[in-house]
Amino acid sequence: MLITRTIAETRTAIAHARAQGKRIGFVPTMGYLHEGHLQLIDIARQHSDFVVVSIFVNPTQFGPHEDFASYPRDFERDRTLCEARGADLIFAPEVSEMYPERSLITFQIEKLADRLCGARRPGHFNGVVLVVSKLFNIVQPDIAVFGQKDAQQLIIIKRLVQDLNFPVRIISAPTVREPDGLAMSSRNVYLSPTQRAQSTVLYKSLQRAKTLIESGERDAKRVIAEMERVIATASEAKIDYIEIVRVSDLQPIEKLDGLVLIALAVYFGKARLIDNIILNVSDRAVREIAALP
Ligand code: AMP
Repeated sequence: MLITRTIAETRTAIAHARAQGKRIGFVPTMGYLHEGHLQLIDIARQHSDFVVVSIFVNPTQFGPHEDFASYPRDFERDRTLCEARGADLIFAPEVSEMYPERSLITFQIEKLADRLCGARRPGHFNGVVLVVSKLFNIVQPDIAVFGQKDAQQLIIIKRLVQDLNFPVRIISAPTVREPDGLAMSSRNVYLSPTQRAQSTVLYKSLQRAKTLIESGERDAKRVIAEMERVIATASEAKIDYIEIVRVSDLQPIEKLDGLVLIALAVYFGKARLIDNIILNVSDRAVREIAALP
């Protein structure tokens, strides 16, 4: 497995693989890898011959009071995990390599960043779209894999690729969970033992929403109220948001119908955890969608 720190050596290594006729798969991450990330590597492997993993805690997607400085980092551990999982190259640049100067080009994201995390983390998706665009230009992958755990990010990236004609296919991967349902996240290390025990209410509330909708409920407000009740059973939980939006444009929906995203963000102390499910709702049936097509 190769490790590169500069853009130039990354381009050279990937050009070499491509010259051998290999298809390039890409998994962008912020490191501190867990099984969720590793399953993205597995999926990339299935669709390509040379898997590139980037490990970069991207400062432009963090707000001034967010956890950029304290975000967990452990390159040696990540390196061992990537190698064991069969990645071919890790690109792990310094901030100065990615941003020798502050980028003067920014993106304006209409509609898709209005709600959910976009509303609570101003500028966040701008930073995501900036770094992903740069990484796509550096790696020039044939396919790139993103997790549905960050559903809003996935939907925005799909639209970025469509609107800007990036020659890459975006593949979505189902959310990988701990045995008790908590979505895996690098930020789960922030949780105290009590908070970790209580954090199962996120997934429980999503499951409760699904059960309610399966039993015929179509009113988004009532579903959200029930989810709030489930989360309120955790004394340390502080709800940032619970929203139900259409998958097509991430705008809120009152009467559930079609592809809907039920998403939430909840604080446990300084840890801000997110989770979601996507349901295809019709008059007669409700189907969970593990990974968007
Ligand atoms: P991050 O390192 O948190 O920026 O995540 C890098 C990629 O891994 C993103 O595409 C995430 O959506 C994905 N990811 C993070 N956690 C999970 C998980 N529990 N299951 C599946 N994918 C995940």
